[in-house]
Amino acid sequence: MTYQLTQDQVALWEHVYHLGKRYVEPHASKWDQNSEYPWAIHEILKEQLLFGALVPKEYGGLGLSVVDFTVILEAIASSSACGATLGTLETHSLGAQPILIAGTEEQKRRWLPQIASGDSLCAFSLTESGAGSDAGSITTRAVKDGDSYVINGSKVFCTLGNLARYVTVFAKTQQDVGTRGITAFVIDTQKAPGFKVGRVEKKMGLRGSPTVELIYEDVRVPVENRLGNEGEGFKIAMETLSKGRVAVAADSVGIMDYVTKYAADYAKTRTQFGRPLSNLQAIQFMLADMEIQTETARQMTYAAANALISGEKTRSEIARLTAIAKCYATDVRQKVVSDAIQILGGYGYMQDYPLERIHRDSKIYQIFEGTNQIQRLVIARSVLAKEK
Ligand SMILES: Cc1cc2nc3c(=O)[nH]c(=O)nc-3n(C[C@H](O)[C@H](O)[C@H](O)COP(=O)(O)OP(=O)(O)OC[C@H]3O[C@@H](n4cnc5c(N)ncnc54)[C@H](O)[C@@H]3O)c2cc1C
Repeated sequence: MTYQLTQDQVALWEHVYHLGKRYVEPHASKWDQNSEYPWAIHEILKEQLLFGALVPKEYGGLGLSVVDFTVILEAIASSSACGATLGTLETHSLGAQPILIAGTEEQKRRWLPQIASGDSLCAFSLTESGAGSDAGSITTRAVKDGDSYVINGSKVFCTLGNLARYVTVFAKTQQDVGTRGITAFVIDTQKAPGFKVGRVEKKMGLRGSPTVELIYEDVRVPVENRLGNEGEGFKIAMETLSKGRVAVAADSVGIMDYVTKYAADYAKTRTQFGRPLSNLQAIQFMLADMEIQTETARQMTYAAANALISGEKTRSEIARLTAIAKCYATDVRQKVVSDAIQILGGYGYMQDYPLERIHRDSKIYQIFEGTNQIQRLVIARSVLAKEK
C-alpha cells in the first residue's frame, strides 16, 4: 500500500511547516533548556484550531482525519523538531480520543468545544508504578456510590497531567476479571477534590512537555463522567493507543526528515581534507541510508493512518499496521538521529546544535504508547495467526 497526499493535504503540510519554521523552531532549544511548557506556541495552536484537529466540526473542531493529523505532526516535526510542541499536540489528542471514541452526545457537547479550542488541555492516565506494559494489572479503583464513583489510587508518567483541565483516567470497577474490569472516566480537575499532582519528573528529553504523578484520594466523579459502560475501559484505551502509535510514528518521520536535511546542509559547508564532507561517498551513503529509512517509515505510517480511516480493516489488521509503523519508525529514528550527529562529528554532540536535544528527545519514542517489545508481541501474534 502506498500513500498519496491530496492537494488539500499538501497545502496543509506546507501551511503547518511554515508555522513550525516561523514560530516553533527558534524557541525549541529554550523550551528544552528551561523545561518550559511552550505557552507561546500554545496560543498559536489555539488560533489555528490545531488542538481541535480531530474534533468534528459540530463540536467546534476542524473535523480532520487521522491522515490529516499525521500530515500536521510530520510537518511540525520536520520544520522545528520541537519535542515540547509535538508532545503537547500528541498528548492532548490522546487525552481527547477516549471521548471521541466512547463519549455520548451529551458528553461530547459538554467537553469537546473547550478541548477543540485549546481552552482546556487533556491528558491520558493509564500507567501506574506497578503497571506499565501490563496495563491490565492497574490497581486504581473506582467504587460506585449512589450517582457517583469514588476513585482511589495513583498514576505515574502522565504527560500534561499538571496542566490538563480534563484527565481521562482508567480504573478498576471490578476486581479479578483482568482487563474486563477496567472502566474509563473523565476527571474535571477543577471539580475534583482529592485529585493531586505529585512528583514532576526530571527527564532525559521532551523537557518542555511535563510528565507527572497523579494521586486520587477519594475523588468523587459523577456517573455522567464515565465513558462507555463499566468494563469497556481497556478496549477504549487500546483503540486510543492505536491512533497514538500512528501519531508518534508521524512525529518520528518528521524528525528524521529534519535531521537528515540538517546533516546534509552541514556536510555541504564543512570542509575537511580540502573538500566538503558531502563530496565523500562514505557521507553520501550515510545520508542515503537515512533517507531510505525515513521514506520507508513514512510509507508505513501513512498506510497505518489510512487503515484507521478506511473502515475496511479488521481490528487485528489495524493493530498489526499501527504496531509496525510505530515500532519501525521509532527504531530507525534512533539510528537516523545518531547518524546525523556522526556526520556533524564533535559539533553534533554540543548543545549549540539541535541534534543533541533531538537525540535526548528521541529515546522515549521506543518506550511510550506501548514499548517496541510490546509492538513486536502484537506483530508476532498476527504472524502466528496466519494460515498457510
Ligand atoms: C516521558 C514519558 C511520558 C509518558 N506519558 C504517558 C502518559 O501520558 N500516559 C500514560 O498513561 N503513560 C505514559 N507513559 C508511560 C509509558 O507508556 C510506559 O512507560 C510504558 O508503557 C512502559 O511501561 P514501564 O515504564 O512500566 O515499563 P515496563 O512495563 O516495566 O517494561 C520494562 C521493560 O520490559 C519490557 N517488557 C515488559 N513486558 C514485556 C513482555 N511481555 N515481553 C517483552 N518485553 C517486555 C518492556 O518492553 C521494557 O523494555 C509515559 C512514559 C514516559 C517515560
